Amino acid sequence: MQSQPASLTASARAQPETVALFVSDIHLQSGLPHTTQAFFDFLRAPAMQTRALYLLGDLFEYWAGDDDLADEYNMSVAQRIRAVSDAGVAVYWIGGNRDFLIGDAFAQAAGLQLLPDPSVVSVANRRVTITHGDAQCTDDTGYMKFREEVRHPDWQQRFLSMPLAQRKAIIAGMRSGSREAQRTKAYEIMDVNPSAIDALFTGTGSDVLIHGHTHRPARHVDAGGRERYVLPDWDCDAAVRRGGWIGINDAGGILRYDIDGRAVD
Ligand code: MN
Repeated sequence: MQSQPASLTASARAQPETVALFVSDIHLQSGLPHTTQAFFDFLRAPAMQTRALYLLGDLFEYWAGDDDLADEYNMSVAQRIRAVSDAGVAVYWIGGNRDFLIGDAFAQAAGLQLLPDPSVVSVANRRVTITHGDAQCTDDTGYMKFREEVRHPDWQQRFLSMPLAQRKAIIAGMRSGSREAQRTKAYEIMDVNPSAIDALFTGTGSDVLIHGHTHRPARHVDAGGRERYVLPDWDCDAAVRRGGWIGINDAGGILRYDIDGRAVD
């Protein structure tokens, strides 16, 4: 009876290996311990078993500057990412609208490489465009104006030259205030603009796009067969846990996973 073990071996070999993972919008903060733990669990298991990990923005609820690495919580996140990198996984970072001030000191502490937004990467012979996604929300003209201002090197130099406590107070002021202010500051309420997505596909010559930001997890295929994958945001401190990631295997297959690591499609 040798046929049974032989067929088991064949089916084990047919299982493709996941070579890259993509995740975004964890919105890490010390006030969300279950979300933090879920992300650490993700780093410890699936992320350790792949070759490349792409962090696509808004990993942190906010980032006031790399000198905030002195904060125990922030350092613990950097160290957990560092452990993945130390295990031989290449870790890459694209900043979001909340943590675009992440810089070289954080990159060094976390053992990751900062990438421009957008970037084109080659994974399993697929040309994949990655972006956070806020730059494609062009219908939100107020936000686009704000984005242009805060992404300017002069603005960032001015802001980062302020004492950390003052920067945190400014960010807290933006995050609190009236309900209306909160609503208008919730940059995720807008979806991406189809023309901006089209321009991104055309500009990069890519037929796969992965982004986050909009909190509208999905797989969209346009008339030309180009695929746009949207990552979910995470919240494991809510009544219903949510989150997840995307994986690409060595056969070029792209899979969406929920917060418990189950394939979605
Ligand atoms: Mn965002």
